[in-house]
Amino acid sequence: MIKSYATSGMLNARQAQSLLSKLIYSVEGIADCRLDEDTQDILVDILPGTPEGPIDETVERLIDKERHVRLMGSRMYRQSERIAGQEGRPEEIHKLFAENGSVKRGLAVTLTRQIDDLLIGWAQRHGAELRSYPAMIPVATLQKCRYIPTFPQNIHFVSEFPHRLQELEKVRESEDLNALARLSPYALAPAVCFHCYAELSDSRLHEPLVLTARGTCCRHEAAWRLGNHRLNEFSMREVVLFGDAAFIEDERKRFMEEAWDLFEALGLAGRMETASDPFYFSEESGKGQQQMMGNMKYELIVNAGADAGSFSIASFNDMDTSLCKPFGVLDGGANPMHSGCMAFGIDRWVYALLAYYGTDYGKWPPGVRNTLERSRTFQ
Ligand code: ATP
Ligand code: ZN
Ligand code: MG
Repeated sequence: MIKSYATSGMLNARQAQSLLSKLIYSVEGIADCRLDEDTQDILVDILPGTPEGPIDETVERLIDKERHVRLMGSRMYRQSERIAGQEGRPEEIHKLFAENGSVKRGLAVTLTRQIDDLLIGWAQRHGAELRSYPAMIPVATLQKCRYIPTFPQNIHFVSEFPHRLQELEKVRESEDLNALARLSPYALAPAVCFHCYAELSDSRLHEPLVLTARGTCCRHEAAWRLGNHRLNEFSMREVVLFGDAAFIEDERKRFMEEAWDLFEALGLAGRMETASDPFYFSEESGKGQQQMMGNMKYELIVNAGADAGSFSIASFNDMDTSLCKPFGVLDGGANPMHSGCMAFGIDRWVYALLAYYGTDYGKWPPGVRNTLERSRTFQ
């Protein structure tokens, strides 16, 4: 059943969009929720058996919170003139990018490797050192930078059974896993760069440092949104910069320019614009506004056509000293280093390419294939 909630007169268009981005993670038992751009109504597809009362109340509370928040729009940094290619038919793509993208076959696997190889070679040309980290990260590491209370909607924890005879015996007798499991001191990493800060914590860097690592990242996405470009487990390559403020800004700009060149060389269309992190609580929206105003975060957004839609495939973040401070990453003068990171969602690049050019690699434009097959040097 689709239920519509009016917001016009109470919220402006940006506030309604912001409410939607929070509502997605604020109610369960729905199959969809979206914003009607013409009426500014929020439309929620409520599953049979889900009580409406708590959803009504949640929308009401969110409206009340969002109406007090002043939001600015994103600023465009680059925009392409070409139009999105749409050779890939959804039923063909889903043979290679199956089960909501969690099973990749043939060309999808090759493209994943090719994209990552391109990014590694590129990071190494910027002097990046190679790293590899686990998929799990200590909860204590995430707590250091307040990730969990800031983005509670995203986090996936790990559970375990206590190593005690009596409790393990209960596991044999009961199927009530919730009652028997406890939280592990590890969570599934929501991004790669936290590992870099943990590695460098309480150390001094006497010169700039660039690290790169690819990792499996997990985020608790709403179940009804999973698929294509939104996975709950995905592959991310990050390039993480440590240095002074000028080094971070110069390198980040260079990466943004080169990312745009790569995007164009692959024949993709879209835009690069300022963005903010998805702070869950309206009380913290001010931080998102500061990010926007200070150009602290840019996103590269691909337009993959009518079927596949538009989505962010990379972000370019200036963290100032906000992460080096809590982790104690200091410069020679014992001041917190500045840092930044560039994060590339590899699965999304692969999905976008399949949506553009289809599943028959032999028929892809030669220029695109050459770009993907460029030789690289690894250390
Ligand atoms: P979105 O707004 O689409 O949820 P995000 O703002 O959460 O993206 P970032 O936190 O900037 O994304 O993460 C860096 C990159 O990781 C994104 O640009 C994207 O390419 C990738 N990414 C993020 N979430 C997912 C996901 N659920 N599935 C696949 N890739 C993802
Ligand atoms: Zn990062
Ligand atoms: Mg997200």
